[in-house]
Amino acid sequence: MSRLRLVIIIMMTGLIELVSPMQSRASEINGELILALDPGHGGEEDGANYYGEVEKDVNLKIARYVKERLEEYNNVKVVLTRDGDEQVSLKERVDRAVQAGADMFISLHCNASVSHKSHGASVYISTGEGRRKELREFADYFLGEFEAIGLDNAGTFARVTQMGGRRGDGSFDDYYGVLRHSYNNGIPSLLVEHCFMDSPMDWNYIRNDEGIHKLAVADVNAIVAYYGLKDKNGDVYEGKHARQYGATTEAIKHNYYVSPKLNAIKLKEFDGTSPGMATYEVEVEDGIGINSIYLVYKNSQGNSYTVSLMFKDELKTGTYELKGYIPEDIDPQYLSLQYVGVYNRVGFDAGYNNYGQSMIGFGKCDWLNSFNYNGEADINITGKGVLSGAYKKKLEEEIRLGIKSRQSIYPYRH
Ligand SMILES: [Zn+2]
Repeated sequence: MSRLRLVIIIMMTGLIELVSPMQSRASEINGELILALDPGHGGEEDGANYYGEVEKDVNLKIARYVKERLEEYNNVKVVLTRDGDEQVSLKERVDRAVQAGADMFISLHCNASVSHKSHGASVYISTGEGRRKELREFADYFLGEFEAIGLDNAGTFARVTQMGGRRGDGSFDDYYGVLRHSYNNGIPSLLVEHCFMDSPMDWNYIRNDEGIHKLAVADVNAIVAYYGLKDKNGDVYEGKHARQYGATTEAIKHNYYVSPKLNAIKLKEFDGTSPGMATYEVEVEDGIGINSIYLVYKNSQGNSYTVSLMFKDELKTGTYELKGYIPEDIDPQYLSLQYVGVYNRVGFDAGYNNYGQSMIGFGKCDWLNSFNYNGEADINITGKGVLSGAYKKKLEEEIRLGIKSRQSIYPYRH
């Protein structure tokens, strides 16, 4: 799902030295390694849903296979936070891991993007300071395996909450509930987004069991290599290191490591209809060309609404007037801008979260790219109306393409 993706500008040329020690991490853990695998979503919550494939089912298939395979190794026990089409709250998932005495929590997901332009595998770690280095290394094992099966490496990320919450130490809370709860319970955790379900480039990995199996094998390899687990013959698997560290292969080709910047955004004109059209003035800074900007609004009931800004040619540094579709069901009285996503054509994006009165960029991690929001979120939309012709056309086109993007405007829990 649409999420804050951040550019990691550090190219780790000395990566092999950094992560190669093959001493068993499992042995650092008292006796047996207990791993909690968390198949994302379940029950009423489908997760991403594209082309007839439902994320909750894909996640569960991966989790079951990974558990089965890992239990062929010595000194490891795997617990699933759900083992069926069960609706489990994010807190309950972590509670189950805590009860099982888990040493590590790994949440398994598949992604989708609002723009439907993203692809590749990514791993999320907590925004908290604790264990960042080791989690980043673990993420690298995953991304190396995903690269090996042909997926692009979209990077390792941390995503801050859109609610503005902070921990006692002043750092921003995690966006992902399972990472937040795990952190608060002292369990290191990762959230793996295997691929983008709405991407034609990644489609082969989720459309049948063969593809799903490849994803699961990659997970098994990453875990086995990272922990130095021994199989029944006593053999260990060394693992594959990611060739790129938090950058897509496409980005490497373009020699481009700087995320696009959004310096200001202002609602200039709104025709008063919802759904309808609005005009925004946007000041961007990007050398390679921004191809997607979306805004996420939230009302007092916590419902999210996405407005995609429309433009034909890529936007380079400059100020633009752009049209945006205001989705139906929006309740303008309670509207506030919560998040702005900006993509350029190499897949990088910057995210801006609403924090109190100001928009904040997320640049607290030294290894993540930092960016700033200098403008004001000047949003004041009033009035309701009927479905505009342009909006209807957009929906029809999406239906023709088989894209169920309506999902993206509803509350989406992670
Ligand atoms: Zn998911």
